[in-house]
Amino acid sequence: MEKTIFEKIIDGEIPSYKVYEDEHVYSFLDVFPITKGHTLVIPKKHSRNIFDCDPETAANIGRVLPKIANAVKEAYGCDGVNIFQNNEEYAGQSVFHLHFHIVPRYKDKDINFDNLEVKWPPQKVEPSEFEEIRKAIADRL
Ligand code: 5GP
Repeated sequence: MEKTIFEKIIDGEIPSYKVYEDEHVYSFLDVFPITKGHTLVIPKKHSRNIFDCDPETAANIGRVLPKIANAVKEAYGCDGVNIFQNNEEYAGQSVFHLHFHIVPRYKDKDINFDNLEVKWPPQKVEPSEFEEIRKAIADRL
């Protein structure tokens, strides 16, 4: 299997603007940032995305996400942070090595190039359908 771009970054074959590294995790600036300070957090152990990620890898990422999110927030005093994580092409994944986006959000949009619009249109669901959906998911856990 050909290495993904992120595996090449971890292995030092492609340069990156690294902000953090430990035994299990690597974090660096997104080279096409959505806003100023857009940072990626990836596990060193390869998984394609959330679906094949083992619990230990998820824990390693989870352990450092708050620390890196706080550093990103403090760096430019942003007004909030979105954490995005895309799985499979239809959901917007373009690099097939698990990664989390930390995207700072700014009220002062212009100097921080924050033109991101997160739309979250709520849908109406009847109680019986909620129950059907709940059961379909819960039965698999
Ligand atoms: P996805 O769309 O898979 O959730 O996110 C992949 C991200 O990787 C994109 O935001 C894209 O800008 C970033 N990216 C793609 N190639 C490179 C690269 O070579 N270096 C860095 N630092 N980021 C990259």
